Amino acid sequence: MSQFKPRVMSGARTTHQLHVGNYWGAIRNWIQLQDQYECFFGIMDLHGLTTAYKRAEEIKIYNRDIFADLIAWGIDPEKNTVFIQSMVPEHIELFMYFANLTPMGWLERVPTWKDAEEEAKASDTHNLGRFSYPVLQAADIAVYQGSLVPVGADQMAHLELTREIIRRFNHLYKGKLPEPKPLLTETPLIPGLDGRKMSKSYNNTIFLTEDEKTLKKKVNSMLTDSRRALRENPGVPEDCTVYAFHKLYSTPDDLKWVVEGCTTAGIGCGECKAKLCANMEAKTKIPREKKKELLNNPKTLDSIIEAGCEKARMEARKNLNTIKDWMKLR
Ligand code: SF4
Repeated sequence: MSQFKPRVMSGARTTHQLHVGNYWGAIRNWIQLQDQYECFFGIMDLHGLTTAYKRAEEIKIYNRDIFADLIAWGIDPEKNTVFIQSMVPEHIELFMYFANLTPMGWLERVPTWKDAEEEAKASDTHNLGRFSYPVLQAADIAVYQGSLVPVGADQMAHLELTREIIRRFNHLYKGKLPEPKPLLTETPLIPGLDGRKMSKSYNNTIFLTEDEKTLKKKVNSMLTDSRRALRENPGVPEDCTVYAFHKLYSTPDDLKWVVEGCTTAGIGCGECKAKLCANMEAKTKIPREKKKELLNNPKTLDSIIEAGCEKARMEARKNLNTIKDWMKLR
């Protein structure tokens, strides 16, 4: 049946463990998509290395950690093709074919590159790998003939470049690669502990399977509405990081309790955080146990990873052969 479903390709970049921002921004969508589409979910370590190349030895550990997280949170490795990017070298071969037909100007115009360039210079990641990131992304999708890519509204420009590269390829070689369409998904902006966007580079993250003690410590350190410097002062929940998390983890009754209690100074921030902590822990406990079990059974995890990568590789190899036929390279 699966061959009749449209094919989705999406990936999570390996740089660290997954954090709750990754879950709400991507993984939760994947869990929903896996029932409707034929899905290829990649753990994109080659993309991770563009910025994490100085700590390459950590990437292997995070690949396994992310794989275990995905399964623990509900991605079915039987139903989907879940793989590690570097285990499928066809991505790099296709990247090279695409790199040759991509004018430099296309990459220079990508808004995220323009935004990131200064930061890249400051962090010693102003490198060819990072600059050519969108070309590898196009190869990641085309190597599986992905026709749909889940994206948030802010990632449309990257996908447009992928479509341009594939269009140019099809024009030059009379190929028939699908131009992937965006599958617009909900990607709420998840604040970090300090109220800025959650990001490992800001050191403000909550990891997806944080242990209970650390979770409590992190929730207690969350920035609250400054109007509530004193317990008797009412506050505005919408201006509070804790409330942003309640909206993700708490029931409508709990949300009502927070809004009423905060705006009337009927509850203190400590109580509010304790409730959030309990609600987050309730959703995290079972996946955390499942992940631990997988990581404690390396042979089982290895066999799931190997099977996923082999499945991906067979598909990629088949498609790459077709691509090379179009290019008259074989
Ligand atoms: S009561 Fe809750 S929502 Fe209000 S400021 Fe304190 S932590 Fe934030």
